[in-house]
Amino acid sequence: MTKGPLRVVIVGAGFAGLNAAKALRQEPVHITIVDRRNFHLFQPLLYQVAAAALNPSDIAYPIRSIFRRQENVRSVLLAEVTGINLSDKTLSLDDASVLPYDYLILATGATHSYFGHDDWEEVAPGLKTLEDALLLRQRILAAFEEAERNPDDADRLLTFVVVGGGPTGVELAGALIEIAVHSLGKEFDVIDPTRARVLLVEGAPHVLPVYPEDLSDSARRQLETLGVEVLTGTMVSEIDEGGVTLSDGRRIESGLVLWAAGVQASKLGDILGVETDRTGRVHVEGDMSVPGHREVFVVGDLATVPGVPGVAPAAMQMGRHAGRMIEADLRMRSRFPFHYRNKGALATIGRARAVADFGQVRFGGFLAWVAWLAIHIFYLIGFRNRVLVLISWAWSYLTFRRGARIITGVPRLPEKGEP
Ligand SMILES: Cc1cc2nc3c(=O)[nH]c(=O)nc-3n(C[C@H](O)[C@H](O)[C@H](O)COP(=O)(O)OP(=O)(O)OC[C@H]3O[C@@H](n4cnc5c(N)ncnc54)[C@H](O)[C@@H]3O)c2cc1C
Repeated sequence: MTKGPLRVVIVGAGFAGLNAAKALRQEPVHITIVDRRNFHLFQPLLYQVAAAALNPSDIAYPIRSIFRRQENVRSVLLAEVTGINLSDKTLSLDDASVLPYDYLILATGATHSYFGHDDWEEVAPGLKTLEDALLLRQRILAAFEEAERNPDDADRLLTFVVVGGGPTGVELAGALIEIAVHSLGKEFDVIDPTRARVLLVEGAPHVLPVYPEDLSDSARRQLETLGVEVLTGTMVSEIDEGGVTLSDGRRIESGLVLWAAGVQASKLGDILGVETDRTGRVHVEGDMSVPGHREVFVVGDLATVPGVPGVAPAAMQMGRHAGRMIEADLRMRSRFPFHYRNKGALATIGRARAVADFGQVRFGGFLAWVAWLAIHIFYLIGFRNRVLVLISWAWSYLTFRRGARIITGVPRLPEKGEP
């Protein structure tokens, strides 16, 4: 190791990376944070950007601002890590520079997986990044505009299929039907947006398959009350520009298919060259370090720990644990294993509906939605973001309107010769 303060490099400023850095705030180390984005993204509210309820800057916060008062964060680098040399203890960055470390914390998260059908990505966009959310927003709003110009094709254009009945799929389906019925319902001259169909397709027998069965059933009822058609025990076997084909042979003509299924760990798991599971998540030791490399930790969605779900609270706890293990080393104390404290799970289903699972206490409906709202506001980073999100939600709740209905990009370029 080098003379002087130890160099801790944290790759990824998501929930895990941020909490690792914060856990080390009192320690005599030099921290470098590397991320390919200059902002921390609050992924649980991404679907609200896709659904035109929030603006991108409401759920993203500059990494430099987060650490402006943490003196041992010596450097924040906007760069992509492209290589890791475990024996030299160096990282390669996308500008071909090399970054040495004494301790490395890898927290680069996960992306979506199309289960080997990568060609579906073009026709069924997923939701993982801010760019994804803006693309979805553009395609959702553009579908209504296109239907207004082509009313003969409106039935197809206004049929939305959401693939995957986990929390993201359920949230998206609920938001889509509310856009159609409440936000756009009276604003078009030719088409009737309230006639839009939203189908939620899930391969498992229940939506929210990892939740207790009574809550899954409650979520289904709440979705159906809103008008979402829920198809469980059904897989999608083909997706193309015109719609989807289901495993039972049924064909659904659709103007927009949204992908909210499969998860694939960030490719840094592969680059590391250690054992991973089939989704690319790294098998770690009990203290979250990489087998054979006590100085390298993998945390958050990039790590696989039995019984620990890929959710934000787990990522935060893993990140904090890695920080504490470095602190234990510095103070010549023994390391201890990571224990996940399950604080419960919440999924929202539209404007005033949700399900909440706090172990012994489980409930659905308006109260669960209030709990969802309070927790998301609490964990959002930045006072400004909290205030703006609260105002946007209060306004949308009272008026049924959405403040971010802007179509960005060019949904359809004019044909040659077209005025
Ligand atoms: C749409 C959606 C909704 C969700 N809803 C919920 C919810 O309601 N509740 C909940 O608890 N969880 C939810 N989750 C899951 C939760 O967001 C994740 O579990 C959590 O973000 C994982 O944190 P992480 O720090 O491991 O990774 P991330 O938060 O994904 O952060 C990874 C960081 O690494 C950076 N990065 C990646 N690769 C590189 C590279 N090569 N070089 C440099 N930087 C890199 C990325 O830019 C990013 O900043 C949701 C996820 C999504 C996508």
